[in-house]
Amino acid sequence: MMKKVIVIGAGFSGLSAATELASKGYEVQILEKNDHAGGRARVFQSNGFTFDMGPSWYWMPDIFETYFNRFGKKPADYYDLVRLDPSYSVILSETEKIDLPANYADLKTLFESYEPGAAAQLDAFMEQAAYKYKVGIQDFVWKPSRKITEFLSLKLLIDAIRIDVFSSFYKHIRKFFTSPTLLKLMEFPILFLGAISQNTPAMYSLMNYAEIKLGTWYPMGGMHHIVKGMVALAEEKGVKITYNAEVQGFEIVKGKVIGVKTAAGLQKADAFVAGADYHHVEELLGDGLRNYDEAYWDKRVMAPSSLLFYLGISKRLPNLKHHNLFFDRDFTVHSHEIYTDPAWPSDPLFYASAPSVTDPSVAPEGCENIFLLIPVAPDLEDTEEGREKYFEQLMDRLEAHCGVSIRDSILYKRSYAHRDFKSDYHAYKGNAYGLANTLMQTAILKPTLKNKHLDNLYYTGQLTVPGPGVPPSLISGIVVATEVDKELKG
Ligand SMILES: Cc1cc2nc3c(=O)[nH]c(=O)nc-3n(C[C@H](O)[C@H](O)[C@H](O)COP(=O)(O)OP(=O)(O)OC[C@H]3O[C@@H](n4cnc5c(N)ncnc54)[C@H](O)[C@@H]3O)c2cc1C
Repeated sequence: MMKKVIVIGAGFSGLSAATELASKGYEVQILEKNDHAGGRARVFQSNGFTFDMGPSWYWMPDIFETYFNRFGKKPADYYDLVRLDPSYSVILSETEKIDLPANYADLKTLFESYEPGAAAQLDAFMEQAAYKYKVGIQDFVWKPSRKITEFLSLKLLIDAIRIDVFSSFYKHIRKFFTSPTLLKLMEFPILFLGAISQNTPAMYSLMNYAEIKLGTWYPMGGMHHIVKGMVALAEEKGVKITYNAEVQGFEIVKGKVIGVKTAAGLQKADAFVAGADYHHVEELLGDGLRNYDEAYWDKRVMAPSSLLFYLGISKRLPNLKHHNLFFDRDFTVHSHEIYTDPAWPSDPLFYASAPSVTDPSVAPEGCENIFLLIPVAPDLEDTEEGREKYFEQLMDRLEAHCGVSIRDSILYKRSYAHRDFKSDYHAYKGNAYGLANTLMQTAILKPTLKNKHLDNLYYTGQLTVPGPGVPPSLISGIVVATEVDKELKG
C-alpha cells in the first residue's frame, strides 16, 4: 500500500514538499484554504491588468534550476526568463537616481565614481561573497537543522568562521566601503532577510553575490508563472490539490495525527506537512501539543509586514524602471519604526514595481501596472484611513519622480496590509515575510521542522528553516520532504 501524506497549504514550500514526496512514491494531497495556489505569490486580474500579489524579485536563478532539474525539468519548460538591465533603480533624492547596471564591469565603474578604490574593493568583497554563496547555498541551507551535530564537522566549523556566521553584516560591509551611497546600495539586499544589517550575520553577503553576479530576472507573464509551472509539475507527479479546503483542526490518537478536520470531514493520512504559517498551525494544535508557547512567539523577531497598493494607470509613466527603490528618506528612522519601537512610519522609504515596463501582457496597451510596497512593523492597527494617508504621500513622491500627474489616471486601485495577511494566510501578527534571519534565528535556532509531541507532523515554509523568500521556501519543502521520507521508511 502506498503511504499517504497530506500537505497543508499550496504556497511555494507546500508545493515543493508535495512534489518531492510524490516523486518519492507517496500518495500526496494538498489542502489549500484559498481558491488557487501560490499563497503569498497569488495573482489577480482586474480591468485588464494582471497583478502579482507578493514576490516581484526573481533572484538566485540557480535554485529554480536545481528545483525543476530535480524532477527532470527546467524553468524554461514552464516560463521564459529575461534578465533585467538595469537590475533596478535607486532614487536617492528628487535630483539623484542610480540605475544599477547588470554588467559587472559597468557596476565597478559606477562604484569607483562614488569612492576612489571602490571598484577593487568590490572585487575583494565579491570574492568572499562568492565563497559564502557556494558554502551557504550548496551546503548550509539544505540542512534540516534539527540537531547541533549536523554542524559539528571540522570542515563546517571552519566554513562557519570563514563565511562570517558570527559577525554582523553592518561591520563587514564597512571594512570595504565608506561612501554612504555605496553602503546604502550594498545593504539593500539584506532587507530581503527581514532584518537590519546590524542584526544580520555577515554570511549573508551571499545576497550581494546573488544580486550582483547572478542577476535580477523576471518570468514573462509575471511571477505567478513560477507557481503555475510548479502546480503543473506537482500534478504531473500525481499530487492532488484540493482548493477551498481550510484545515480547521487535527485528530490525534496516541501521539500521532490520524487526520485533519476540514468542512468536508476528516482527511486521513500517514504523515502531515504544514506549509501554512507555523504559528497558525500551533494555534490549531493547542496547548500541550504545540512546539512553542505564545511567549516564545512574541519574542521572535518577525520580518516586516507591508502596506501594498496595486494600481492600474491609464497611461505610461516616464522615468520608471521595472524595480524602483525610493531610498530618498532616512532609513535609520524607518527601520527604528519597524524593529525597535514599532509604529507606522513617519516618513517611509518605499518600493515601486512596474512590471509593465518589461512585460506588455500585464497591462492594457498604453497603460502601466504599478505595485507599491512600504515595509512596516507587524502587529500594527491597520485602518482604511491610515492606508489612505500613506497612499497620498506615495502619490506625491511618485508624481514628483515621474513628472506627470498620476492620481487623475487611476483605473484600478486596491490596498493590502495586516488585516488581509491575517485573513488570507492566517499570518501571525499580519507578517508578510515570516521570521527574520537574525543570528539568533538561524539554523537550529529557528522553529524546528518537526513537532516534538506528534510523531508524524512536520512544518515547512518561511517560518522554519532555512528562512523567508521564494528560493528558501523551495528548499524548505525539499528538506522537510526528505525528513518525512526518511522517517516513514523507518
Ligand atoms: C508583498 C511580498 C513581497 C515579497 N517579495 C519577494 C520577492 O520579491 N522575492 C522573494 O524571493 N520573496 C518575496 N517575498 C517572500 C515570499 O513570497 C515568501 O517567502 C514565500 O512565498 C512564502 O511561501 P510559503 O510557502 O512559506 O508560505 P505561503 O505563501 O504563505 O503559503 C502558505 C499557504 O498555506 C495556506 N493556508 C494557511 N492556513 C491554512 C489552513 N488552515 N488550511 C489550508 N491552507 C492554509 C495559505 O492560503 C497559503 O496558500 C514576498 C512576500 C510578500 C508578502
